[in-house]
Amino acid sequence: ATPTALMVGVGRGASLGILVRGQDALEASGRITTVVLDKTGTLTSGRMAVRRVLATPGWTQREVLRQAAAVEQGSEHLIARAVTRAAEGKDIAVPRLEDFTAQVGRGARATVGGRVVTVGSADVLEHPAPPAIAAGVRAAEEEGRGAVYVVVDGETIGALVLSDVLRSGAREAVALLHEQGLRTVLLTGDGEAAARRVADELGIDDVRARVLPTGKANAITDLQREGQRVAMVGDGVNDAVALSTADLGMAMWNGTDIALKSADIILVREDLMVIPDAIALSRRTLSTIH
Ligand code: ADP
Ligand code: MG
Repeated sequence: ATPTALMVGVGRGASLGILVRGQDALEASGRITTVVLDKTGTLTSGRMAVRRVLATPGWTQREVLRQAAAVEQGSEHLIARAVTRAAEGKDIAVPRLEDFTAQVGRGARATVGGRVVTVGSADVLEHPAPPAIAAGVRAAEEEGRGAVYVVVDGETIGALVLSDVLRSGAREAVALLHEQGLRTVLLTGDGEAAARRVADELGIDDVRARVLPTGKANAITDLQREGQRVAMVGDGVNDAVALSTADLGMAMWNGTDIALKSADIILVREDLMVIPDAIALSRRTLSTIH
């Protein structure tokens, strides 16, 4: 590789909002065949909000939100931020938490006032959710919204319906990746329904939902074994291992520190057209070199 050609690529990248951390990365990206995309915080803005609080009969919406917020004080997840903000907005005094544990890819758990409180996906449920809650969550999912359950000492006391929006340029970005001859895969810890909906809306080729962080890295390895050269775009703690496993790791600028450290390229632009731009840039750089 001639250093001059790479420097040109890097310079042009900076003006496009593409920060290249290693020259090898830029070279690798020219030969990518598949792009794996994380959903929450990557394809979506990650500015989540609590839209609705569902309470099991015998519990109030305030109490559901209060218990959830107590646990989420200990978490840095985008959902946690939405929950603590919602409690603040309702002037709810949030109790202290003890023994916080993050259940990566599933939820968060802590002891609150002597009781064990868990907030998270259906994986955290100890018993099937009460019918009213299950119906509310299903309705939310049909609207394309995610939901998390709130469980106190094994009892599902309610659920929180969350909203998140697709980032601008998401649809165009996926279309352009396809024009570039790339296959696209959506990889998410979120449920099948929410994942399917986003994939259909954006025209993404393939979906892997309810994938735990270790599973994300395995999914990349599987694709590589099939002979694909894989780029991964992510933002979260749960994406870090996958980002370093991929032939090319790209992190969103507003991602967590560990995601940024695990990536070869940092995307510093609000719109997702930055992804095909990064691929195009690297291909141009490659043809200048060889
Ligand atoms: P993604 O791959 O979409 O970025 P994650 O792997 O971070 O998602 O999380 C997967 C799922 O686990 C979330 O959709 C949510 O249901 C649950 N979850 C994870 N962390 C938390 C948390 N702190 N509070 C509530 N739910 C959580
Ligand atoms: Mg994410």
